Amino acid sequence: MTHAVLWIAGGVAVVAVLLFVVYAASVLRRGRRLGTRGLMQRSRLRCPHCGREFDYDWVPGVAFTAVRLGKYRYMACPQCHRWATFNIYDTMVPRAPAPVTGVGQPHEPPKPPLS
Ligand SMILES: [Zn+2]
Repeated sequence: MTHAVLWIAGGVAVVAVLLFVVYAASVLRRGRRLGTRGLMQRSRLRCPHCGREFDYDWVPGVAFTAVRLGKYRYMACPQCHRWATFNIYDTMVPRAPAPVTGVGQPHEPPKPPLS
């Protein structure tokens, strides 16, 4: 009997890990298509209570201040502090590309000091 419980618990753990890996891979794939880098993703969310927009930076599979519900998170709005469900997956925004600097770029000469 004990062995059966251990086998079932092990099976459930393996399935949970596999589901997490598939979810993280799908989020990272979507982020790569949008041009984001690394694990950190950004979503632009609109609060259903106050209607204000805010940017939300998040990591797939990690949440300390929100309840993860697949591609949704139940969390407090940073503007009005009321709790709501936000779709963080479909509202992901591409990160702005890094500014290009270095060799070959036009360089503006320093302006002379005003006298
Ligand atoms: Zn709000």
